[in-house]
Amino acid sequence: MSRKLTGKVVIATHNAGKLVEMRELLAPFGVAAVSAGELGLPEPDETGTMFSENAAIKALAAATAANLPAFADDSGLCVDALDGAPGLFSARWAGPTKDFAGAMARIETELQKRGATSRRAHFVSALVVAWPDGHTELFEGRVFGDLVAPRGTAGFGYDPMFRPDGHDRTFGEMSSEEKHGVDWRTGKGLSHRARAFVTLAEACLTRVE
Ligand code: IMP
Repeated sequence: MSRKLTGKVVIATHNAGKLVEMRELLAPFGVAAVSAGELGLPEPDETGTMFSENAAIKALAAATAANLPAFADDSGLCVDALDGAPGLFSARWAGPTKDFAGAMARIETELQKRGATSRRAHFVSALVVAWPDGHTELFEGRVFGDLVAPRGTAGFGYDPMFRPDGHDRTFGEMSSEEKHGVDWRTGKGLSHRARAFVTLAEACLTRVE
């Protein structure tokens, strides 16, 4: 039986793009969300070897420091022909200046170097909710698609080069509502984060509308 989230929660991220998306996803649930950045919480080192471990590190650190339930997402882009890279290192490929045009160009260069015939990739999101007493719950989502020459200015990170299966446009060409693709009647979403979030919502949240 999952624990319910009520009242105030911390969104344990310093990534502005993720923060916007998580606030949008939380909006229908009457939960007040404050970010780790707004609370001035330090960013813990992401020392895990799996998305779920890093998400748990971030959620637990924020829950303990703020004495509130916290949730964190660890996510990334995994490219089949690059043996899953950049994967856990998706943020780091953009460097300290968060140069995602450069990170996308690097993916292209690596694909060319290997003479890759496949452009298949997927995004992964591991969402962990942690409570100050150390209890955690994990929810994961994936979205599969193809890498294309970057298109569009919406979203963040690698969005412009990722075209999800069944769509003509990249995430960079979609509104955030379209990228989430959440249909609460069917409990389905499009993006990896939305897919993880709908399972989290079913388990831990109650709709207020
Ligand atoms: P994290 O903060 O270590 O989880 O970094 C995740 C990184 O993966 C982000 O900085 C982005 O580079 C990339 N990423 C994760 N989710 C998305 C997404 O929805 N769109 C584009 N890039 C993403």
